[in-house]
Amino acid sequence: MAKKIVVIPGDGIGKEITDSAVEVLKKADAKFGLGLSYDYYDAGGTAYDKFGTPLPQETIDAAKASDGVLFGAVGGDKWDNVEPTLRPEKAILGLRKHLGLYANLRPVKVSDTLVEYSPLKQEVVKGVDLVIVRELIGGIYFGDRCESEQKDGHERAWDLENYSVPEVERIAKLAFETAKLRRGKVTSVDKSNVLATSRLWRRTVAEVSKGYPDVELDNLYVDNCAMQLALRPTQFDVICTGNLFGDILSDEAAVLGGSIGMMPSASIGECTSLFEPIHGSAPDIAGQGIANPIGTILSAAMLLRYSLHEEAAAKAIEDACDKALADGYRTPDLWKEGFKKANTDLMTEVIVERV
Ligand code: ATP
Ligand code: MG
Repeated sequence: MAKKIVVIPGDGIGKEITDSAVEVLKKADAKFGLGLSYDYYDAGGTAYDKFGTPLPQETIDAAKASDGVLFGAVGGDKWDNVEPTLRPEKAILGLRKHLGLYANLRPVKVSDTLVEYSPLKQEVVKGVDLVIVRELIGGIYFGDRCESEQKDGHERAWDLENYSVPEVERIAKLAFETAKLRRGKVTSVDKSNVLATSRLWRRTVAEVSKGYPDVELDNLYVDNCAMQLALRPTQFDVICTGNLFGDILSDEAAVLGGSIGMMPSASIGECTSLFEPIHGSAPDIAGQGIANPIGTILSAAMLLRYSLHEEAAAKAIEDACDKALADGYRTPDLWKEGFKKANTDLMTEVIVERV
């Protein structure tokens, strides 16, 4: 039976980069016999313009019924004055909720070819290959809150952090499963010297780890982890953490690679998962055909790995991206003297050739 992929290009460079990733998927399909089919749906500002909502019900329904969602990007200043509840960004938040996307995986890999693009010293980032597994629908971002109340004669606001054992178990299992496919090490990150939620987190992760005797477990406080990411990032394999800490650490880790256009992500859901580059819709370069498609192509590779369990095809796409870069092709965001200039189409073509 055909594996149904729902493609949601979104706004800005979203169409260019998802077109590119679909071309690469088609080549992988031809080579590995994956039986993929593609259906396109609107979301974001584009959907708002057509239907008056950034996330039409038919997009939600199609995403839910699919085997995996390939998402471009949403947003742009065109919609700055739209009412807050109808902003393009609401599309991705809504999809997280409707698909139950409970975990966000962000791999950060610094290939030898691109080590010079990192803002950190080459000897620090050479060989970095880690994944941040962030809990995505719990913790302080989804706890009770109070915007404003009077107490003891002062105005105050509060946000409540809370985690349940099943919520932590689910994310911890995913982290250990991910580590099993990699170098077998999980670093759980919390602030258990201060926070009750972190103490429950640490206890629960330790309990889950008993089911994975071949995976090593380490614990770090979040402040130390932030420092270690900048000092010695090669020590990490899989970092497992909550929603708030993961939000901050994943942006910090993304800097290691030096180029936002290269980085993929996966959001793992209860039934369907969603795959998107970490960058936004880049309105400043939209429509020019110069966006770096690699973040989206690597997201498509993650779709093959995590949703369809097609490891060989996923690896072939990742290797093809590495090879295209090693052969000297660079989109404008990465171009330097001595390299071959490639627009989105050429970059796509040379990657397709190498799959
Ligand atoms: P958002 O709020 O959606 O995160 P943003 O404006 O904060 O949007 P991006 O859209 O990611 O962030 O753009 C940040 C910068 O990076 C812009 O200058 C953009 O052109 C550049 N950029 C982002 N993605 C790419 C890409 N795939 N290829 C080339 N340049 C990119
Ligand atoms: Mg941004």
